[in-house]
Amino acid sequence: EFEPASRVSRIKSSASVAAAARVRELKAEGRRILDLTVGEPDFDTPEHIKAAAVEAISKGETKYTSVTGTPALQKAILQTIELRSGLRYAPAEITIGGGAKQVIFTAFMASLDAGDEVVVPAPYWVSYPDMVLANEGTPVVVTCGEESGFKLTPEALAGALNERTKWVILNTPSNPTGAVYSKAELRALADVLADFPNVFVLTDEIYDQIYFGAGRISSLVEVAPELKDRVLAVNGVSKAYAMTGWRLGFAAGPAPLIAAINKLQSQISSCPSSVSQAASAAALTGDQTFVRESVEVYRSRRDAAVAALNAVDGLSCATPEGAFYAYVNCGGAIGKTTPEGKVIANDEDFTLYLLEAASVAVIQGSAYGLGPYFRISYATSLDVIEESIAAIDKAVRALS
Ligand code: PLP
Repeated sequence: EFEPASRVSRIKSSASVAAAARVRELKAEGRRILDLTVGEPDFDTPEHIKAAAVEAISKGETKYTSVTGTPALQKAILQTIELRSGLRYAPAEITIGGGAKQVIFTAFMASLDAGDEVVVPAPYWVSYPDMVLANEGTPVVVTCGEESGFKLTPEALAGALNERTKWVILNTPSNPTGAVYSKAELRALADVLADFPNVFVLTDEIYDQIYFGAGRISSLVEVAPELKDRVLAVNGVSKAYAMTGWRLGFAAGPAPLIAAINKLQSQISSCPSSVSQAASAAALTGDQTFVRESVEVYRSRRDAAVAALNAVDGLSCATPEGAFYAYVNCGGAIGKTTPEGKVIANDEDFTLYLLEAASVAVIQGSAYGLGPYFRISYATSLDVIEESIAAIDKAVRALS
């Protein structure tokens, strides 16, 4: 009988993938589910991007590319990074992969030895701890509560670092909280890192374009150029251009790390799809109207969702500054009893109750390492958002 390798037994399947599967199951049973679990834009990929892919196919750009990508994509990535953060990288300092997810996984595979520690601020994107575990590392989860805006403070960072620390992960804007690190906050973290010259930082900036503040988000290397040789800045096209299915991500970092990632990539997949590379180059260099317009749509949904959630007695939620998620405190519902007589002991019980009583699917905060909360995604229509929160309100009122 098949026994998986220990690296498989060590990890969990993604909670968001599991939630999506559960929603599909319930829908297949004929139930109407209001789905607030979705971690991807509800928009279609813009036409000019699709057209670039079709053109690439017609022109026969359907073969292996170099591990580091087509020249057009490389140029597009280097230009994009410079445009967004003013930072110049050389071609040997960027890598591409099948989504930011694969780039992060390969970066850990390229750098972690057994026992190396990775500081993971919680709430975290569900995949980080498991990716670390799959690659023999040890996740060191640091709880970052609502009082610090769900962000890592310099004190908390200093407390987590030691001679075994290999990486610190910073995700800005954050999935699941939408929190964004300010320039001053990044500078303060950089000051702590000055005393730990062997520690690398993985900044996951996949949501950098989905930002509701003025201007653009700050990038760690921009604020602390002295860290350039130990920061891997990860990004991609999935979220900003509604291209989750195309599977294309990229990262910029020090050449020796990039070389190690590319060496592994050469044995893992050779390169991401040539067609997706052509589409991604078009996304990065083409008309950016879609990005601006979709951010405005997310902003109005965010405002509606946050106002409606805060009006529910027992729930509260801070205003997210980026991405398309809100992280809702459901502490007021814990300890209460459902009409069926079941006590809600934690956020997992609460989300199950919402699914049963309100037909609303959300993801429990415990999946992200901090309860009692739940995550909603507002990458769905305003109608669904409003109907869902009204149903949540009714379900919460029914608790005693
Ligand atoms: N990083 C974060 C924080 C995410 O939320 C996601 C997607 O959910 C990813 C990375 C992965 O993005 P990609 O589609 O580029 O693999």
